[in-house]
Amino acid sequence: MAKLPFVRGNAGTPADWPGFPVAVQRFDQRNEIFKRGCWDPEIIPLAEEFHDIRYRDKPGYGKLDYAFQMAPWNMEDTFGYDRAGDGRPALYSWDRFCADFDLPEGPVREAPDRMSYVVKKAARFFGADLVGITRVHPSWVYSHSFNKATGGHQKLELPRGCRNAIVLALAMDFEGMASSPAGPAGGATAVGYARMAFTANLVATFIHHLGYQAVPCGNDTGLSVPLALAAGLGEWSRMGLLITERFGPRVRLCKVFTDLPLETDSYTPFGAVEFCRTCKTCAEHCSSQAIPYDEPTTRGPSAISNQHGPCKWYVDGAKCYGFWAKNRMDCSVCIRVCPFNKTEGPLHDAVRGVIRSTTAFNDLIVRVDRALGYDKPRPARLFWE
Ligand code: SF4
Ligand code: SF4
Repeated sequence: MAKLPFVRGNAGTPADWPGFPVAVQRFDQRNEIFKRGCWDPEIIPLAEEFHDIRYRDKPGYGKLDYAFQMAPWNMEDTFGYDRAGDGRPALYSWDRFCADFDLPEGPVREAPDRMSYVVKKAARFFGADLVGITRVHPSWVYSHSFNKATGGHQKLELPRGCRNAIVLALAMDFEGMASSPAGPAGGATAVGYARMAFTANLVATFIHHLGYQAVPCGNDTGLSVPLALAAGLGEWSRMGLLITERFGPRVRLCKVFTDLPLETDSYTPFGAVEFCRTCKTCAEHCSSQAIPYDEPTTRGPSAISNQHGPCKWYVDGAKCYGFWAKNRMDCSVCIRVCPFNKTEGPLHDAVRGVIRSTTAFNDLIVRVDRALGYDKPRPARLFWE
């Protein structure tokens, strides 16, 4: 089994864990940058500016573009919503499933490898593009949850026995994302959130009716990127997001925690971290210079919004949100320009194969990628033509 990239040694961690430092402090969701927009005087002005929509006479920033975003956000804001234990009947609720019934023969009992196959098949059917399974490291569960709507802030523990996570990746629309930081890209992101809530809920409900506990989650409850790494969905990256081999960073992540016995996957690198050491395209294109140029480190720029300890690249969330505020639209430029953000096809698949097998051509691949203009945005007006 390949070791997780940010792991150093094996400091007495559970056997399931190839050395992730167990002393890493659990993350309080209140300190996530968007949640800080509710309570932190440093971030509140950014949140206010970001939400103060002003239509502009510029392709991608008109009434049509904002309306296009708002449609899928309505799904997340009305029916998704991060759990904060306030009893909201939402798709991420821990205990609200459709018409409950007694299973006459108790929980389904099949071998873990069979159940992993079944759950992955169901998850794909319900809308996931990639599915992986991992044991849950304690450091990846938030210490506290925070609800933006109510201000609810409370200690968080998973239900007893929920030591497995089914991690789901949902690809965002390539064409929409190609216009970032303009409106159609915001629509692609928002559809991703709507699909997260839908798919996580269906997977959790399926498991519930098999007779087991299941906790559907979006960005809440636990750190999606480490879970996805351990579940074999991809690698960490300079921009801090998960990079998958098939879609690059153009995915949204959700997960379901469960006590259903499952066979797990393992970390499966394909050359992305090594590629990032050469590339730096996202850092150069980031308007707020929030992405580091240096080598990975164990401390991030924010005392509270980075989970320090793991050796990786840390993004400056406050700088990033500063650009979102100026843009009055969310930004995915780093995702758009990443050379791994490609559609499928024989040529791109061949390049992925080269990156997987050797680092010798990484510099050349970056230069060719730029020469072909893959780092340039697609004009937003073309989205509507
Ligand atoms: S989302 Fe935009 S501002 Fe934030 S890190 Fe990526 S490129 Fe920079
Ligand atoms: S743009 Fe380059 S440096 Fe940034 S995440 Fe993608 S591959 Fe890594």
